[in-house]
Amino acid sequence: MRSKDPKKVDEKNDDKKDAGKKNEPGIMKMTDRTMKYVLKTAWKEKKIVFLLYVIKFIGAVLGEFKLLLLPKLLVDEVVAISEKAAVTDHLHRAVFYVLLTVGAELLSRTLMNIADSSLSYYSVYLDRILTYRLCDKTMEMDFQHTEDPQVLDQRSKAQDGISWYSGGITGMLGGLYDIIFNVALMCTSVTLFIFYCPLILPVQIIGMGLITYFNFRSQKIATEAFLKLGKLNRLFSYYLYEVASQRYGKDARLYDSSELMSNRADHFGKGSLQVFRERSEGTVKNDYKSNIVNAFRDGFSYFYMGYRTLKGLLTLGDLTMCISAASRLYQSLMGIGKGFQDLTQKCSYAYQFLVYLDYPDALSRGEASVPEGDHEIVFEHVYFKYPRAEEYVLEDVNLTIRAGEHLSIVGLNGAGKTTFIKLLCRLYDVTKGRILIDGKDIKEYSREEYRKLFSVVFQDFQLFAFSLRDNVAMGRADEEPAEAEVENALKLSGLYEDAVKLDEGLDTRLFKSFDEHGTELSGGQRQKAAISRALYRNAPIVILDEPTAALDPLAEYEIYKKFDTLVGGKSAIYISHRLSSCKFCDHIAVFSDKTIREYGTHEELVKKEEGIYAEMFAAQSQYYVDAKSGNE
Ligand code: ADP
Repeated sequence: MRSKDPKKVDEKNDDKKDAGKKNEPGIMKMTDRTMKYVLKTAWKEKKIVFLLYVIKFIGAVLGEFKLLLLPKLLVDEVVAISEKAAVTDHLHRAVFYVLLTVGAELLSRTLMNIADSSLSYYSVYLDRILTYRLCDKTMEMDFQHTEDPQVLDQRSKAQDGISWYSGGITGMLGGLYDIIFNVALMCTSVTLFIFYCPLILPVQIIGMGLITYFNFRSQKIATEAFLKLGKLNRLFSYYLYEVASQRYGKDARLYDSSELMSNRADHFGKGSLQVFRERSEGTVKNDYKSNIVNAFRDGFSYFYMGYRTLKGLLTLGDLTMCISAASRLYQSLMGIGKGFQDLTQKCSYAYQFLVYLDYPDALSRGEASVPEGDHEIVFEHVYFKYPRAEEYVLEDVNLTIRAGEHLSIVGLNGAGKTTFIKLLCRLYDVTKGRILIDGKDIKEYSREEYRKLFSVVFQDFQLFAFSLRDNVAMGRADEEPAEAEVENALKLSGLYEDAVKLDEGLDTRLFKSFDEHGTELSGGQRQKAAISRALYRNAPIVILDEPTAALDPLAEYEIYKKFDTLVGGKSAIYISHRLSSCKFCDHIAVFSDKTIREYGTHEELVKKEEGIYAEMFAAQSQYYVDAKSGNE
């Protein structure tokens, strides 16, 4: 199969990214897209939700029947009784209407209660589905997005927008239901007025038009405030919740940073409050204007109906019904306007969720299959700068790692060693130049297949709050865990003996966050667990990016040496700032000033006059000699 031209895909992605940023669609388009998504999701996941809205509708119609029509019938019967015309007949009918009122009330409430309580259950269910989709997107998106503040802001907006700002799926479906119900109510009231009080209609419509206009202005102010709040909320929660979490517990205490954190949280908290204040001030003015229009609309309606009754054009029953219908018409018109405004607003919040789900890939996706067997890696004039950064962190890096070769990468902190690995693993794409594996640009390979080439243990590796066994088996997450291999990987890393002594052996959960019987491994044990995971993965290229920093030099040396033996004929790349750990490698690449300054075997480099490696090695040997004599 011919793979896509990566350059072209890159350009296309750039276009898509720009489009996402500049062309925020109008509110109607957002509503349209969001509602289609919501309806489709609800239909696919829980069709019963639609049946529940139908039940709710029937209950509400019964309620309206009780309020609009039954009082009119009852009043007309009572008036007839008071005028002493065919009293028994009228009395029977009056009693029947009272019983009908009681029955309608009971049935209406029961149906509405059944629908509402079931809907609140399904609401949680459906919202959970959206949360899964958000998490899936976060885990599947290109790694570089996860470090991009713009994407993090978008995630924060998506999360807030799809949950409490929009009320989730049932919040939006409920909004649509309200509009449909109010349209039905409006049609009923309008029909009644056409027959009984036609002049009321234009006054209601003009009043409604004005009120809707004021409401729309309020909505615009609220939407603008929401967009501003995305970033502020993320920063506020970072300082308040994340930094206060257990992960930062030790550092926060040792560096006495709680006051600093509180001040920062306070700063961003004040920012949010200011946005809320501006929003309230803007909306309250429009609410005030709506109230004035409303008062005039009411006054005219009552005056007109009273006048027609006195003229004998309406019975007392008709008047009762028209008074009810006037308030129903107003309520329904308001309900439609407000419902429409609420729904578009909710959809514009929830739309941010769709923007997040559609966030374009940063990296092009190739389709070529990775060949079987050993792999040769070539860096060809590679330059790299991080997205949105001005400066290159790697410049003109050229290197060949032959199949089965063991390479050690050394250099001072910040020299670009980890970045080199990130480029090789395609967490980022090079800015200029090419990386080739088996002669093909790595951009051309299928991403899923390409990732399977590597077993990597990064410096900041993460273990999960699952059992130790699951943490190791995650090395091949798409397969059933192989018991014997998990145990073997733990034995090879030297963790097995400690692991079997844990309360529940390999099934002991790590961390105490989800299980009070969970265990907190020591720094060294954690590193061994991460190494076991990499060994279990059994990929053709293995990489250790200084995961052993918490171990003493001797233990680190032992692990690297043992690891090197285990790796055998596979290609391996080791990063360590302790040079002794890398002596046994075939070649050593020394990173400095954004590129590879020295390259050779340990013996070659250590002899080089004024060489960076020779200098670093001499300094470290001195340290080991001092440490040894100190111990003696
Ligand atoms: P090393 O592994 O040699 O310590 P790194 O590859 O981690 O060095 O970092 C190289 C340079 O790139 C450093 O100046 C670092 O600050 C910068 N850098 C690392 N990660 C990022 C990032 N995500 N965004 C921007 N700059 C980064």
